[in-house]
Amino acid sequence: MASSLTPPPPPAPNPTPVHPGRIRLLSSGAPSPTSTSTSTSGPVIYWMFRDQRIRDNWAILHAAQLAASSSSSSPLAVAFTLFPSPFFLSARSRQLAFMLRSLRLLSLHLTSLNIPFFLLRGDPVLTLPSLLRRLNASALVADFSPLRPFRSSLDAIVREVGNEITVHQVDAHNVVPVWAASERLEYAAKTIRPKIHRLLPEYLVEFPDLPRLSSPWIGEEPPGINWDELISEVKREAGDVREIGWCEPGEDAAMEMLMGRMDGFLTKRIKNYDTDRNDPVKPKGLSGLSPYLHFGQISAQRCALEAKARRKFSPQSVDAFLEELIIRRELADNFCYYQPQYDSLQGAWEWARKTLMEHALDKREHIYTREQLEKAKTHDPLWNASQLEMVHYGKMHGFMRMYWAKKILEWTSGPEEALSTAIYLNDKYEIDGRDPNGYVGCMWSICGVHDQGWKERPVFGKIRYMNYAGCKRKFNVDAYISYVNRLVSGTKKRKSESL
Ligand SMILES: Cc1cc2nc3c(=O)[nH]c(=O)nc-3n(C[C@H](O)[C@H](O)[C@H](O)COP(=O)(O)OP(=O)(O)OC[C@H]3O[C@@H](n4cnc5c(N)ncnc54)[C@H](O)[C@@H]3O)c2cc1C
Repeated sequence: MASSLTPPPPPAPNPTPVHPGRIRLLSSGAPSPTSTSTSTSGPVIYWMFRDQRIRDNWAILHAAQLAASSSSSSPLAVAFTLFPSPFFLSARSRQLAFMLRSLRLLSLHLTSLNIPFFLLRGDPVLTLPSLLRRLNASALVADFSPLRPFRSSLDAIVREVGNEITVHQVDAHNVVPVWAASERLEYAAKTIRPKIHRLLPEYLVEFPDLPRLSSPWIGEEPPGINWDELISEVKREAGDVREIGWCEPGEDAAMEMLMGRMDGFLTKRIKNYDTDRNDPVKPKGLSGLSPYLHFGQISAQRCALEAKARRKFSPQSVDAFLEELIIRRELADNFCYYQPQYDSLQGAWEWARKTLMEHALDKREHIYTREQLEKAKTHDPLWNASQLEMVHYGKMHGFMRMYWAKKILEWTSGPEEALSTAIYLNDKYEIDGRDPNGYVGCMWSICGVHDQGWKERPVFGKIRYMNYAGCKRKFNVDAYISYVNRLVSGTKKRKSESL
């Protein structure tokens, strides 16, 4: 027992600026490092997957901290795996080029910080362990995605190298880490909201700077990347969906969208978010941040901190934005994390599956093939406009996404076909597609996920219904159709000029 004359030891300085609840130890490797440090001096490698940024990134912060705190201070490197299947396979040239153009900027930024950037091509389960061994790495830090392809790759990597090195995972995407927010599949926004709100004071905190690393990189140099060639090659392989011109890729462009002096969301546009976000005729009423959030080019936590700081100017709009950005977005991650069948009818609640199957054979007034839908060849000019907005602009208005998906349920031969068609089109054309928000958006619209039962009706059963007349009451349908027509003729004109 300590003598009463001995002063108590000073509290140990927290070795990590990252909340420990954000970090998971996936393997402790060898010989026996503690859960928050590494004992050898080999480099720490951050496997950047979902959070493709340097600024405001808890995963790179943790990796840098781990490197700095090892017994003889390790260097740090970033690895990115461009893997052909299955995750990136469904991405088209539109999404891949946006991602690679941003990674090009990121690699330059890393070079200026003396942090090497390894771009690996092929299956990460093979390429990443091989890199870790060649570099004699002491630890791997992965970021977090709830989607199956990433999770199965990470599991396989841990099985492969877990006996050799420490592997940590950091949820750098959610404000409240998915595993801290809830330990179970949440039923709806109302069940997860209080859990997240309770933890916000702990997690919604300012980011520290990236620590300066004292160990220079002396190992294998990453091979140079011919970005133009890589982008052309990937675009050729990935197929035919045109890149978008209205949204510049990269961290700086993302910050500009958030806080730019000319047209930034928080600086110029948030005032009427509360009311305008449901008006498809006012696309600027939305933040426009989803491409950046999806690719992790901006941190949702940065967006939330900056919005909160401006709350006194427009409290209702800031609260509405925080509800979408934190609660709805993190509810989608919760769903995909705890429901392995997040993109299938099997993932719906029992009541919804039952009602959909009871009405699966109901007579449909219109039935369209996937090709007719893709080409926007339906009888409904409003639906066609939303489909064209997605195909040509790469981002359908949030309100129209609900109407769009619900009509696919109404006009295809059954709920399974409707869901797979909606996900196929969403993932192919939306710049923010292949995201938990997309799977949950389709599941909400078609399978009632996070919603309640409504008055029973043909085809939909108890799933919430939406119709043209309802849209007409809410916004100027003709103005939206004209707006999309202008978008389409604009892209056609640009296409012919570039030929
Ligand atoms: C059928 C359908 C498909 C969808 N597909 C996608 C998709 O592929 N990718 C995607 O990111 N979102 C998707 N959404 C959710 C939502 O429509 C978009 O996030 C939003 O329109 C993106 O535009 P914004 O960033 O300008 O929106 P803002 O209203 O400014 O929202 C800011 C952020 O909050 C989050 N958010 C907003 N609405 C939702 C929501 N309903 N659910 C979860 N998070 C939300 C997003 O991260 C968004 O970027 C889909 C919704 C539906 C109904």
